[in-house]
Amino acid sequence: MGHFINVILPIPLEKSFTYAITKAEADFLQPGIRVSVPFGKSKIYTALVIDIHTNAPLVYDAKEIHQILDEIPIVTAQQLQHWQWISKYYMCTLGDVMRAALPSAFILESETIITKNDEQVINDTDLKDDEFVVYEALHHQSSLKIQDMMSILDKKNVLPVIKRLLEKNAISVQEEIYEKYKPKLVRYVKITAQFSSENGLQNLMEELSRAPKQRDVIMTLFSISAQTKKPIKVSDLSAESDASSSIIKSLIDKGILEEYHIQMDRVLYDDDENEDSKQLNEYQEKALSEITKSFDSQNITLIHGVTSSGKTEVYVKLIEAQIEKGKQVLYLLPEIALTTQLVERLQNYFGEKVAVYHSKYSTNERVEVWNNVLNNSPTAQIILGARSSVLLPFKNLGLIIVDEEHESSYKQFDPAPRYHARDSAIVLANIFKSKTLLGSATPSLESYYNAQQGKYGLVELNHRYNNVMMPDVELVDIKDKQKRKRMKGHFSDRLIEEMTETLENGYQIILFQNRRGFSPIIECNSCGHAPQCPNCDVSLTFHQYRNQLRCHYCGYNSVMPKSCEACGSVELDSKGFGTEQVEQEAKLLFPDHVVGRMDLDTTRGKYGYEKIITALEQGEIDILVGTQMLTKGLDFRNVKLVGIMNADNMLNFPDFRAHERSYQLMAQVSGRAGRTEERGKVLIQTYNPYHKILQQVSTNSYFDMFEEQLGERHVYKYPPVFRMIKITLKHKDYQKVDVGADWYARSLRTVFDKHVLGPEFPPVARIRNQYLKHILVKIPQKQSLGKTKEAILKINTSFLSVKDFRPIRVILNVDNY
Ligand code: ADP
Ligand code: ZN
Ligand code: ZN
Repeated sequence: MGHFINVILPIPLEKSFTYAITKAEADFLQPGIRVSVPFGKSKIYTALVIDIHTNAPLVYDAKEIHQILDEIPIVTAQQLQHWQWISKYYMCTLGDVMRAALPSAFILESETIITKNDEQVINDTDLKDDEFVVYEALHHQSSLKIQDMMSILDKKNVLPVIKRLLEKNAISVQEEIYEKYKPKLVRYVKITAQFSSENGLQNLMEELSRAPKQRDVIMTLFSISAQTKKPIKVSDLSAESDASSSIIKSLIDKGILEEYHIQMDRVLYDDDENEDSKQLNEYQEKALSEITKSFDSQNITLIHGVTSSGKTEVYVKLIEAQIEKGKQVLYLLPEIALTTQLVERLQNYFGEKVAVYHSKYSTNERVEVWNNVLNNSPTAQIILGARSSVLLPFKNLGLIIVDEEHESSYKQFDPAPRYHARDSAIVLANIFKSKTLLGSATPSLESYYNAQQGKYGLVELNHRYNNVMMPDVELVDIKDKQKRKRMKGHFSDRLIEEMTETLENGYQIILFQNRRGFSPIIECNSCGHAPQCPNCDVSLTFHQYRNQLRCHYCGYNSVMPKSCEACGSVELDSKGFGTEQVEQEAKLLFPDHVVGRMDLDTTRGKYGYEKIITALEQGEIDILVGTQMLTKGLDFRNVKLVGIMNADNMLNFPDFRAHERSYQLMAQVSGRAGRTEERGKVLIQTYNPYHKILQQVSTNSYFDMFEEQLGERHVYKYPPVFRMIKITLKHKDYQKVDVGADWYARSLRTVFDKHVLGPEFPPVARIRNQYLKHILVKIPQKQSLGKTKEAILKINTSFLSVKDFRPIRVILNVDNY
């Protein structure tokens, strides 16, 4: 009797692949262990065992594996179950899911590039012979493919060697250069060595006898350190001794105090050093008990809490309860909301129990978190993570919190798996028989609808913490302002008035514009020509800072021409405006104030967001101009005015979710105004002040928005009333896509009839030289989702078996966002 395993390979194969193993290997192996296997003529891969059995494959001879790579599983049974669901639901392969889940250091293959790790000193004597040969080779060549290693070592079976070298930290797997997540540095002080003896101290006190304030600081320092015997933060010293930072600074300058920094996450947390969580107010208390009660009968509960109602503090209480039971908690956030602000807030309460997981992490850091979660380590009880953290190897998961659950960035767009982290989280929690809490000030129509239908519990929290009033929203009609010449550039007189007053009172301002760059269209005044991207069907955006035209779809750029490419005229006009232009105008209007900008262009660099957010927190920026990045759960205490420069381009965006999204965006940015004590002000500039969404934003009427939008989704058969699968065909040949899409849509219509929409070219029909055409399949609630997908897959298979269509890429996107 032969022994076999089925494995997942990190490539998109429809079926799992079978390999032959020995009896001894069969006894040793378990699902979740990695093996290195040959594939095709000369490739090798890391594969993941999912099944051990004795059934030889029918249609091919199973090859033997090269080697077993793990002692114990690195992927859990629950994870495999979750991956199966993702693969089935989102119509992708298990290989796709595995690739998204595993840190790249876990999936070595012949194409993987490795480099020497220069940060680690390795003694040759620490290396085995084969390891040494590989390591030596990397002294002569800066990087090598694993394939090359096979010829250097003259054997196929090289993955174990690579794995050992990785574990010794001698080499790294090449990847994009990730920014390291940088925790804030905390400033500490101590007395310099020369004064810390008893004698030295006496001398010091005499020396300072004529500087009583400085003396007080030193006395305070002594009394704090006598009490706590721990490093002393400058901020604590300053608060306790009531001394300004300049007094402390002069002590440092004199060489009496010495300052040093400790990284926030390196500070050793003692349990007794953690801050106690805050006492909830009556509304938060009520919300908390309603959530707990709802969980008695519901697996999923939605908390709809207005901005600044203190949802985070409610989450903290729920997390505490899980930690007490020894359970793990997953706290999901959109990528850009994962800022030090929130990380610190949780670390203050939970210390080293908090681990952070997101795309700015290097693969080594991800491996570390992975292993900590897998081992149920005390340093990873609370995982604070972005989308991909639902794919971690939880052992003992008690609760998942999905904050800002309405955020569309929870849905992966490209490549497969095109999964939605919120919905995948719910399934994950079910596997663990635990609960999911969704939270938002502006819930997605999907979630609120599910709550209304009784599928989710619903808890409302309508009071802002401290009873701060919701901001006062004013709509400014810019058509009228233009007619009456009351505009300066893109600023109405009302906005300028409010800005002037806010700045005079020492408060800060946020200006929101949903486009980056200077202006999205450059047009010739004489012939009307507008420069287009050579790779995409879209006009180029002017970026003044670099004097460039840039494509926001493919990254193409060129120097801004001095004259029209078509007719030579020098009269080039710009249409529309982006954040760069708003920034420039704000600087001219308020030359005595500091204007900052936060968008993709300014946050790309190292520690991009952190720098800008810290600058605003520290009061180094008076006016911050930005894109939707500004909306993500940031808590700025001193911002009193929010200006939305132009609401119309959001509202007119060609997408059935445009109105819902506009509401969410505007309500969320507005929520940044006046979060403490004083009521905030929001000005929305628009050509259409009677637009119902703007009315709803200004009266804070989420429920009206919900009802009205839901009505439209009923009428036009869109989610959440109907489900949707989007099929995109992609090829560089226009004709091919066109003909293929017609064929595809016709076949779909034979099954789904009127519930097929399209094919249709999207507004930007060519991206990176590939033409795109979309087909939508709408699925009524009563129709089986499983059967629908089966039918689509069948059509897909017939489509790809037509020789002419085979080169076309077909992308299936379930629940597309
Ligand atoms: P949300 O997430 O609902 O927008 P936050 O949790 O960020 O609101 O709370 C808003 C502000 O109120 C924060 O600065 C937070 O520290 C403060 N806050 C909330 N609840 C409490 C509480 N119970 N005690 C003290 N401060 C609180
Ligand atoms: Zn021209
Ligand atoms: Zn382009």
